[in-house]
Amino acid sequence: MPSSSPAAISGRHVRIRSVASRLLSDLTVIVCPALWQKLREHLARAYPYEGCGLLLGTAAETDTTVAEVWIAKNAWDATAAELFPEAATLGSARDRFAIDPRELLQAQKSGRDRGLDIVGVYHSHPDSEAVPSAFDREIAWAAYAYLIASVQQGRVAEVRCWRLDEATDAFRPEALCIRAAGVEE
Ligand SMILES: [Zn+2]
Repeated sequence: MPSSSPAAISGRHVRIRSVASRLLSDLTVIVCPALWQKLREHLARAYPYEGCGLLLGTAAETDTTVAEVWIAKNAWDATAAELFPEAATLGSARDRFAIDPRELLQAQKSGRDRGLDIVGVYHSHPDSEAVPSAFDREIAWAAYAYLIASVQQGRVAEVRCWRLDEATDAFRPEALCIRAAGVEE
C-alpha cells in the first residue's frame, strides 16, 4: 500500500497488482484448517457485530494461499462514516466495517518480514447472507479476495469468497479451498 491516507482501505484508486490479466474463474483461495477455524471463531465471537480482519499470504498465478489470519478491530465509527458518505444510503447499518489504515500498514509490515502480502479481507454479515452488499462493493479493491461469512444467531452458517471484477465492477464468486498448505487436492 503506497498510501497511508485514511482512504487506503477503500483502495479502488490505489491499485498495486491487477488481476485483470488472470482469468477470474480460475482463481482459488486456499486456507488451512487451523486458520479457517481461527477466522470462524473470531467472527462468531464478534456477533452480533460485524467482525473483520485481513488475510496475509502469497498470491501465485491462480492460487492465493493464506498464511495468516490477522484479526482487526472494526474501526467503523463517525470518522469512517465521514470518509464514506455514500454509506448512509447503502444497505443496512449493520453491514459496516472499516480497517484503520494504520492497522493495515502494521499488518503489511509484519507480513513483509516473512514474505507475505495482504491478499484478502474478511468480514461477517450478522444474520444476513454471505453475499457482498452495495457498501462492500463501494469499498472493494480488485487485488484482494473478499471472504464474507454469514453469522446466524452467533453461529457461522456459511463463508463465501468473492473478488471484484474490474471489467464489470461487480463481485464474482471465487473458489475457496480448505486444506493444509502444500497438500494437493
Ligand atoms: Zn459486508
